[in-house]
Amino acid sequence: MRIAIASGKGGTGKTTVAVNLLTAVAQLPPDERPPEFLFLDCDVEEPNAHLFLAPRLTQREAVPLLLPEVDFDKCTYCGKCAEVCVYHAIAVIGRQVMVFPQLCHGCGSCTYNCPEQAIHEVPRPIGYLEWGTAQAGETLVNFGQGEINVGEALATPIIRQLKKRLLPTLADDGLALLDAPPGNSCPVVETMRGMDFVLLVTEPTPFGLHDLREAVSVARDELGLPIGVVINRDGVGDAGVEQFCAAADIPILMRIPLDRRIAEAYAEGVLLVHAQPSYRQAFADLYRQIVAQVAPEEA
Ligand code: SF4
Ligand code: SF4
Repeated sequence: MRIAIASGKGGTGKTTVAVNLLTAVAQLPPDERPPEFLFLDCDVEEPNAHLFLAPRLTQREAVPLLLPEVDFDKCTYCGKCAEVCVYHAIAVIGRQVMVFPQLCHGCGSCTYNCPEQAIHEVPRPIGYLEWGTAQAGETLVNFGQGEINVGEALATPIIRQLKKRLLPTLADDGLALLDAPPGNSCPVVETMRGMDFVLLVTEPTPFGLHDLREAVSVARDELGLPIGVVINRDGVGDAGVEQFCAAADIPILMRIPLDRRIAEAYAEGVLLVHAQPSYRQAFADLYRQIVAQVAPEEA
């Protein structure tokens, strides 16, 4: 099963839920535990799951974007490349062709459409992947993360390559947890794509509700994926999130109260299931509820 853990908004506790869910499920009895685990930190602008899981990263790979390079001996300055570039990353002005690397999405459209075959593509690294293993209790889990280079803007190709590189290594009956970036833009859509379930972590405030609505619209309405909600810092704010979930028929699968001890554990990089062992059962129950939503016959 493949589960993305997302939140429309940053700082809702998404990574806390992801790493504790992994650790709780990895410690279930063997007959209930998936045979393999894969955790992917897709928050490539600020990966931080490694702070909790302390993986041993043994592999590293650059993520390149293919940037167009013009051969001026062949170029006739016809302007076709600029015409087809929807990102305005290439411009033809008089007898000059300018490429703007930070805008280029490496889509290859200009190369394909150049009538003179005057463009070739050169790889430009925009980030990298790292992977290895981490210990979740007694269980060894596979762990991967991506990180975007400073000054780069395109996170999506890094997430795409992280998924492409590591998801196929997981057995069909294994469990993959993908910690999505915050927000609701392309990198989040890329993380959610192909998942069996999206767990949305929110907080019961007007801001949380606003971003939850958008996340629901992406995960359920756009991608057609089953979803469930975890309310973090339950007890603050108002009833807006509860009312929205009831009206939209979205199951609330877990509530984590506002608790100073939880914040302290987070600040020290200690997993909640270790700081307060009762959460081990709570996160295991969360997993069982997700299984029941995705594959009712297995629950
Ligand atoms: S499409 Fe090709 S030939 Fe035309 S301006 Fe661009 S690079 Fe030059
Ligand atoms: S590769 Fe795509 S995004 Fe980049 S300049 Fe060419 S058409 Fe534009």
